[in-house]
Amino acid sequence: MKIIDCPLISGCPFYNNLRLPGSIDALKSLYCKLHFEDCARYKTKQRGEDVPMQLWPNGQFIGQR
Ligand code: SF4
Repeated sequence: MKIIDCPLISGCPFYNNLRLPGSIDALKSLYCKLHFEDCARYKTKQRGEDVPMQLWPNGQFIGQR
């Protein structure tokens, strides 16, 4: 299987700034490395909308307000 990284990976705060154990790495592997088209952050950006910091790839809002 060919792995294509998310084209937003270099500037994405979720990918680059969050340093939490376990589940974060799993989300990064699942979305940022395999299924970026399904990422809520990616889809929001593609619609031309601002991406809230607290929006996670799975669509949940967690953390900073
Ligand atoms: S898949 Fe989502 S969280 Fe991952 S780098 Fe792309 S926009 Fe950011």
